[in-house]
Amino acid sequence: MKTFRMDHALPVDTTIPDPSLVVLIGAAGAGKSTWASTWPATQVLELDHFRALVSDDAGDQEATDDAVFALQAVLEARLARRKMTVVDATNTEAGVRASLVATARRYGVPTVALVVPTPATVCAERQEGRCTSRRVPRQVVLAQHAAMLAAWPGLPGEGFDHVVVAEYLHRLEPLLKRLADTWRAELGWDGGEGLGDLLLVRRYFGPDVLPMWRWLDGSHLAGGDRVAEIRLGADRIVLAQRNDIDGAGDVGFEVLVGCPHDEACEGQAWAPACNITDLARALTGELMHDPDVHCTAHGPRHNNAAPDAESPGCTVQQAPYTEAARA
Ligand SMILES: [Zn+2]
Ligand SMILES: [Zn+2]
Repeated sequence: MKTFRMDHALPVDTTIPDPSLVVLIGAAGAGKSTWASTWPATQVLELDHFRALVSDDAGDQEATDDAVFALQAVLEARLARRKMTVVDATNTEAGVRASLVATARRYGVPTVALVVPTPATVCAERQEGRCTSRRVPRQVVLAQHAAMLAAWPGLPGEGFDHVVVAEYLHRLEPLLKRLADTWRAELGWDGGEGLGDLLLVRRYFGPDVLPMWRWLDGSHLAGGDRVAEIRLGADRIVLAQRNDIDGAGDVGFEVLVGCPHDEACEGQAWAPACNITDLARALTGELMHDPDVHCTAHGPRHNNAAPDAESPGCTVQQAPYTEAARA
């Protein structure tokens, strides 16, 4: 349904056909990537990501030409297959938009201009929270914002089949549905195997360790608790899943380290492993000096200290790993 919208003299249109080429338009810091994330990651071509692919640095402006070249190749491959595609870049230059519209036309795919008109002051403020290499100078942000405003009324004339303003869109539902599907699959609620006993592993150490994780069932190393290893080539880390790590029935992990008392100790020295940092410290040997190390032959590291007076141990962190946003 199209109704007339007075303030910009363009009819309100919320149509995004599938397939279509969605061209995000907005200044740096406008929140374009948040909107892009409501589509599956494979459908989003983010210019910053292509800069990083060719130069290891998403903010490297010198890499823009090569990044655009690579993005264009993927764009054409997708449009040739009539695949829904979202281009996440400022797209505030008329020449850039014209090239995108022409490409989509060539493959007979409709085009959508998705305008993200976040106020310039907000866009500029958001730059302050970014790391230096990705921070866009205030003057540039203001110029991009002005260019977006100037281009807006002319977008239909540029050949876009639909001009959609982000503030009128309902995109939360597809985003939440996709996240919920992932979650159900991990729990095995979709009829698949799910992550099962790896759910806790992932919560503590993140998804990247899962392919290297192997349960060593039948191992007596941990006094009846379940033992696992993380193994890659010549490297190996041994862990125990403690079913009562704090005497209060909480589950947690400990990692096998060298005994801090005696190099030749025949016992097993265990240190709490709360997160991926602890695994890195276990591998470098640093973790054996942790105050919470306890050896099966020597006992706790600080025999005369009050138990855990100065250290909270692991159990404080119930969900130390939060899944980071996709690159
Ligand atoms: Zn020992
Ligand atoms: Zn402790």
